[in-house]
Amino acid sequence: MPAVTVDNVLVLPRIPKVDPTQAAHRRVRSVTTAPASFEGEGFPVRRAFAGVPRADLDPFVHMDQMGEVEYAPGEPKGTSWHPHRGFETVTYMIDGVFDHQDSNGGGGRITNGDTQWMTAGAGILHIEAPPEQLVASGGLFHGIQLWVNLPRANKWNPPRYQDIRGREARLLSSDDGGALVRVIAGEVAGHHGPGSTFTPMTLLHATVSPGARLQLPWRADFNALVHVLAGRGSVGVEARPIHLGQLAVFGDGDTLTIAADTRQDSRTPDLEVLVLGGKPIGEPVFHYGPFVMNTKAEIIEAIEDYQAGRLGTIPAQPVPHRHPATSTRPGKSTRPKRGRVRRRLP
Ligand code: MN
Repeated sequence: MPAVTVDNVLVLPRIPKVDPTQAAHRRVRSVTTAPASFEGEGFPVRRAFAGVPRADLDPFVHMDQMGEVEYAPGEPKGTSWHPHRGFETVTYMIDGVFDHQDSNGGGGRITNGDTQWMTAGAGILHIEAPPEQLVASGGLFHGIQLWVNLPRANKWNPPRYQDIRGREARLLSSDDGGALVRVIAGEVAGHHGPGSTFTPMTLLHATVSPGARLQLPWRADFNALVHVLAGRGSVGVEARPIHLGQLAVFGDGDTLTIAADTRQDSRTPDLEVLVLGGKPIGEPVFHYGPFVMNTKAEIIEAIEDYQAGRLGTIPAQPVPHRHPATSTRPGKSTRPKRGRVRRRLP
């Protein structure tokens, strides 16, 4: 699992040691196991949030762990062009390569440790697929796609695309050097990640060495979720067991505890976890297919707008792959205008 790593974790800024007399440790509310299935045209996914009450997930809507899978030549598959409205898709690649293109001119290639953050807002079409050479060669593929809801006030924002390189993630060490923390968005102990979010949230990927324990300060007004990408360990001060493909929902408090078992599989030497939390939006959620809105009427409107070609059009030419250090693309609004119908989608 390459993502982004360092030769010597001890040179990194350290997350301060938690004062046991001050900390309000969050206990684990639930541990659920993601059912595995197949997405779109065929990559294996774990539906991380399946069976978890929506109120526990808010502001997050959906999360897939894609892979880890070792593709045979010719096997890698992607999605076809499809729409989104009302939320943001966050794709974090751990292993392998994924290309992305959208109808707003956003797009790029992401690989080990890179993140693409697409704000669908009022509406967008996009396609995600492995590059041709990876399809030809096969190879390792492992990533995460997270859907972050937008509050009502931001659902009609123009679409936006952030290209976040793996090296831009804020790297931190646990207080004893036993864990590497990559902050992708939000903040941990005053250290900020590069992702810009509408909904206040924190997203990080931590690698915890066998036998090590990671304690994270966590905003009391955020929810707290831990998804295990690889390995086995425990969560909470009560040390509830957890392993690959499981999600822990934490209760109230300001400190999270994650520990790696001393013995791990030879294939995945460390415990790898995605830790995420955000400020609950607290609005009604109507989620249907690729649309996440506040009302059923808005879902029907989104379907009609998509069918009328008002969520954007497929670009004639592929977007050249860009690798800027940082790219935040403000887009033009695609707020549907009644009476102005663009080309109908195929
Ligand atoms: Mn999509």
